[in-house]
Amino acid sequence: MGRNSWTLGIESTAHTFSFGLVDSNGIPYPSISDTVRPLEGGIHPREAADHHRDYSSTLFQKILDSQNLQPSDIGAVAYSQGPGLGPCLRIGASVARTISSALGVPLIGVNHCVAHIEIGRQQCDCDDPVLLYVSGGNTQVIAKLQGKYRVLGETLDIGIGNMLDKFARQQGIPFPGGPVIEKLALEFIEQHPGASLEGLDLPYPVRGMDLAFSGILTAAQRLIEKGHSLGSVCWSLQEHAFSACVEVAERALAHSGKSELLLGGGVACNNRIREMCTLMATERDSTSHAPPRMYCIDNGTMIARLGYIELENGRTTSLIASGINQYLRTDDTLVSWS
Ligand code: AMP
Ligand code: MG
Repeated sequence: MGRNSWTLGIESTAHTFSFGLVDSNGIPYPSISDTVRPLEGGIHPREAADHHRDYSSTLFQKILDSQNLQPSDIGAVAYSQGPGLGPCLRIGASVARTISSALGVPLIGVNHCVAHIEIGRQQCDCDDPVLLYVSGGNTQVIAKLQGKYRVLGETLDIGIGNMLDKFARQQGIPFPGGPVIEKLALEFIEQHPGASLEGLDLPYPVRGMDLAFSGILTAAQRLIEKGHSLGSVCWSLQEHAFSACVEVAERALAHSGKSELLLGGGVACNNRIREMCTLMATERDSTSHAPPRMYCIDNGTMIARLGYIELENGRTTSLIASGINQYLRTDDTLVSWS
């Protein structure tokens, strides 16, 4: 790519609008992002899209300034083509088309879920991991088999992060609720070492290799209504929901014969799920890896990284093929790289 050697990545699948960069060797640099935080209620796709549109110019300027770049230093533009919220994806795609057309550089539409895997592999130096992808809208256990990242198990209803955020919202805690639940759960267990889950039972959300979180959400709310403390319910909710994810991940390791577990997605910021994964992996002579938190949450850098890899393998996206796909699946993307 010569002097115009940086790859810009644009992330806009849901709540976060983010620009990131990788250099001519594919080395990642921190993203510049802004996240919509509704004062009440959940994320409204149209309102989030308006937020992304309003922030696009400022964030673009900031990402250039972060590495002292001029627009002419950008040699390629990658963006999240899906999956995600339609209105939000459309803003990212049009910003990407605009920058790529104005600069006359290649455009690469990439799969958001695959980007989580690839930034994790790069950051943690993993070769062939099973990915436990736990985010707001997605919960999937993924492994590369026969040229694609295959979904071995996934949520049958809502993502684990959405479940945590919804439970938090019912208690008056604003989005994102996950980090607050983590804090309350930790305070509870520090104050009650050796506490028992007895009396704090919740349905166990494993369905074969799949997961389902709406039942556990309703049951946790019922524990609150019965008078259990918020801290104790947060703790029980984490213990049940995370063990379920770790159980499916363990089975995926066993079935696929792989020995590296990689965490990704916003919920992978949580220390308790990281600890559970490490315990499980150690017990089966495997390793567990989690990227730095800035690369667990949605970020433009992971999009730039996957764009860079795909471009190195000769793939670009023509304008005519650059439409978004809300329902893009992890296993729709051919993995032509190793
Ligand atoms: P993502 O959709 O991957 O950007 O991740 C956002 C989700 O991650 C939201 O549902 C957050 O509540 C959740 N999240 C972020 N940090 C934590 C944490 N420390 N513990 C649990 N969930 C978290
Ligand atoms: Mg994500």
